[in-house]
Amino acid sequence: MGDGARASSPSAAGASLPAVSAVRVEHADELKSYAESVAGCTRCRLAAGRTQVVFGSGNPRADLMFVGEAPGFHEDKQGLPFVGQAGKLLERLLGGIGLTRQDVYIANVLKCRPPGNRDPQPDEIEACESHLFRQIELIEPTVVATLGNFATKLLSGRPVGITRVHGQEQEATLGGRTVLLYPLYHPAAALYTPAMLKVLESDFARVPELLGRSLEPVPEQEPALTLVEATRPAEQLGLF
Ligand code: URA
Repeated sequence: MGDGARASSPSAAGASLPAVSAVRVEHADELKSYAESVAGCTRCRLAAGRTQVVFGSGNPRADLMFVGEAPGFHEDKQGLPFVGQAGKLLERLLGGIGLTRQDVYIANVLKCRPPGNRDPQPDEIEACESHLFRQIELIEPTVVATLGNFATKLLSGRPVGITRVHGQEQEATLGGRTVLLYPLYHPAAALYTPAMLKVLESDFARVPELLGRSLEPVPEQEPALTLVEATRPAEQLGLF
């Protein structure tokens, strides 16, 4: 996907490439500066135990964005999301729909590794969530696939678990724009549960169709969900 895949016609000699809007180029630069500013984040206790902030990686102008839970051991060491076994599965699933991780953007709810890979705590999510909302605002994806419970509950603003909502896309206003939110099982969970893997594969197969949908723009006067959600403590969302 990304700008290359967004092209509707081949870039043969003489054919013009699709124009990337100046705003999106600007946003890609802003994303880089934002990542630099987050590298020293000390908003929560996780700063003390991390090797580094794992901001996110991939195409800064991706149409498809994935949001996982939090960096694990390998992600913390390498500074990149989803580089362990779950990441390998994610790459395989992407390959199945003709994409690579360079085509999409991958981020997490938390940017720092919780000790021993424990679950994110409500106050950590609350401290970190505006980083994710800003990423969405700058990347401007059309589809945001949430991987597992934490990302799904945070971005849907509803306390409904992944088992009930996986594979059910819904329109949401994130970063001031309408996106399709698409909850998926977390690849780490699917790694050890063959039945869950089957469901994840079949949900994943619908991603190309979702990327092809056009969405209603958000009316000018409507407040962005980011503003609402960013001010609501994670606990009120019933994350836990
Ligand atoms: N699990 C996640 O949720 N995120 C990662 O980056 C790796 C594993």
